Amino acid sequence: MLKKYTPYVHPRKAQCLCGSGLKFKRCCFDIYQKERDVGASSELFNNKKYKEALIQCRADITRYTIWHRSHTEPPLKDGYEPIYEILDIDIKALSEMVRILFKCHERLNLLKEFPAVLDRLRENIKVERWRHHIVYFQTLCALSPNWNVKTGRHELKKIGSIEEVNDVEILQLFCELELEEFNFTEKLKLIDKILNLSEKWIDVLQYQSLKATQFLLINDIEEAKSLLIGAVKEARKNIDNSITAYEALRTGETMLLLSPLINDEDLALEAVSLLKKSLEFEYWTSAGEALIYREIGDARKRLDEWEQAKENYAKSLELSPHNVSQVFLAECYLYTEQLSEAKALLDEVLPEKLTYPNYCDYVFVHAVLSIASGDTEELNNSEKLLHTIEFKEPLFRERQQSLLISVLKCKANCSNENIIKRAFAVLKGVMRSANRYLIFQPNFMGIGINLNKVVEDSEKVHRERIG
Ligand SMILES: [Zn+2]
Repeated sequence: MLKKYTPYVHPRKAQCLCGSGLKFKRCCFDIYQKERDVGASSELFNNKKYKEALIQCRADITRYTIWHRSHTEPPLKDGYEPIYEILDIDIKALSEMVRILFKCHERLNLLKEFPAVLDRLRENIKVERWRHHIVYFQTLCALSPNWNVKTGRHELKKIGSIEEVNDVEILQLFCELELEEFNFTEKLKLIDKILNLSEKWIDVLQYQSLKATQFLLINDIEEAKSLLIGAVKEARKNIDNSITAYEALRTGETMLLLSPLINDEDLALEAVSLLKKSLEFEYWTSAGEALIYREIGDARKRLDEWEQAKENYAKSLELSPHNVSQVFLAECYLYTEQLSEAKALLDEVLPEKLTYPNYCDYVFVHAVLSIASGDTEELNNSEKLLHTIEFKEPLFRERQQSLLISVLKCKANCSNENIIKRAFAVLKGVMRSANRYLIFQPNFMGIGINLNKVVEDSEKVHRERIG
């Protein structure tokens, strides 16, 4: 039987429970007991009333913490096991509130103060899982606003051994920041753990796709295929009119990844329509829109619809100049045999602005152009460029070697139709897996955070990591 416990009373002169650092009587005391709708703070936030949302959210945190300390904490101390379920609800609820608090601080340009707020919230629930959650938010804080991986990783280390963690959000963040450091087996172990804990279909889709890309990278097409087929099948069950921008994008990307593997053009078209749908939402920054147009371009390219591909890449460039779309646009001109247009575009590319995988794409396109044109100077450049890249993956290493040999043959004046044809085939093979590095990042802050900021900056991350 559950004992009767005396309700928790927070001293008026003590620091407020909302983390503001103010005294309780000067902070939430007057408003925390007032009746209000659940979700009032997120509604205020959505209506862009950030200051009001902040005050409301603080009051919610205070109220919930007092409730927790009155009803959950005492039986927990007594070791009353059924209370673990309530504890779980408390942690989730309070996390949700901290999330809104985070977003309010972000919008009000108060993020600098947020780590101290989090420090003060650390003891609101006195269990390790809650403290882990505080580290989670502190890590996101350290990553913001420029996605500074170094400080983020440093912060996340405070969690200690990840083996013990069973919180899906923390694992997702860990996956995002540390996956590249792992070997294949460790990577799969982490991804599988996340998959087992994921409740939302979109999370399952995302990590299933991430798992598939790991197999693609070791050239295990069959395994990748079966994972992606499963993922798409599951996604189809969930796609309806209430699909969000984020879900449409992710599902489109997964279909795009699968379509060349099973030579399914209809699937590529379906991906295009989902990507277009994601553009209907007022959710993206111009960098985000540029990314989506680029992916539509990729799909068109895969369908050999060169003119439409060109159109989408051009649109992507308009929105965000000097991105990899320039390289892909040049590639389209190669296929439509407009070599001088392709060359002009490639000459304008700023290779140092590209992510490492995209830099590799640039080198490949450059090589094929030089082979097709037979220009000695370009061939020399290509030879040099091909030597600057290094792949861990056998698949890409093979193709790199093959192009290098073609370049050398052309240089030795044995350029012929077959070499050119072969170079194009190699390029097609590479570019078909061009989204091998698709960024399958989790939607860390839910709808409302600037996902594209994350997407965009994480490309830099990959570059720092690999380059
Ligand atoms: Zn307060």
